[in-house]
Amino acid sequence: MESLPTPIIQIHDPRLAKKGVELLIKREDLNHPVISGNKWRKLKYNLEEAKKLGHNWLLTFGGAYSNHIYATAGAGKEFGFETIGVIRGEEHLPLNPTLSFAKTAGMQLHYIDRTSYRRKSESDTIKLLKQQYGDFYLIPEGGTNELAIRGCEEIVTEIDTDFDYLCCPVGTGGTVAGLISGLQGRSNVIGFSSLKGDFLQKEVALLLKQSGKHFANWSINTDYHFGGYAKTKPGLIDFMKNFEQQHHIPLDPVYTAKMLFGIYELIETGVFPAGTRIVAVHTGGLQGRKGFGL
Ligand SMILES: *Cc1c(COP(=O)(O)O)cnc(C)c1O
Repeated sequence: MESLPTPIIQIHDPRLAKKGVELLIKREDLNHPVISGNKWRKLKYNLEEAKKLGHNWLLTFGGAYSNHIYATAGAGKEFGFETIGVIRGEEHLPLNPTLSFAKTAGMQLHYIDRTSYRRKSESDTIKLLKQQYGDFYLIPEGGTNELAIRGCEEIVTEIDTDFDYLCCPVGTGGTVAGLISGLQGRSNVIGFSSLKGDFLQKEVALLLKQSGKHFANWSINTDYHFGGYAKTKPGLIDFMKNFEQQHHIPLDPVYTAKMLFGIYELIETGVFPAGTRIVAVHTGGLQGRKGFGL
């Protein structure tokens, strides 16, 4: 079912060699055929907890192309939970590939308007959902909570090589918080934000604080969002296609392509001294490519 530990592979590229920088990719996209990437890590302990508490229903939130919705639907089917996906916005038929998969996996889709979606974590919203569906185990948007952070710590424990920087893409910040937490102050972590704005620095600090962790060896880079979440630019897609062709590693335009574009640019502008060794986490998300016709 799952294939752990996931492989770590070195990228051979003259653009890197010229700067004397080494780049390795931790292939989390290969950890599970359906619940792939960081979403598998984030769900793992949540599923265990839900089982332990005797829940049969999982409820979670996401956009219409969400990797997390896709993963939760797949996990529900595989591990015997009923699932409810609270989806931001209106229903659009025919369903896009993400929601079509979720529905086929048995997920009930519950649409709410964007204004209500912003209030999804408030107790009134949860109460209404419980009135409608009965009791459920709630997994937050993007799967991010303390148990998700614990799951993502295990990405770090699997890396059996030295490195100076560990990089990953950032959406809600749960994954990068897990990497920071797993490293216990060693090395440096750079999270590449897929979202516009600089709120994620605070968000990640808060997630770490809630888990009782205080580390200073990390930063969030906000220069490579390409216009914001789910936005792309031709230069990004070109980079992605070239990278895939050269290295035979599929990427997604929302997260992993943005991170690698950023890493390559920082390397080329000389931010990292020769001899630097970077590990980038491929967080999966390949199902999302379909939404871009890729
Ligand atoms: C969800 C997702 C992320 C963002 O993870 P967070 O823990 O929300 O920051 C990064 N990459 C991929 C491929 C994802 O699906």
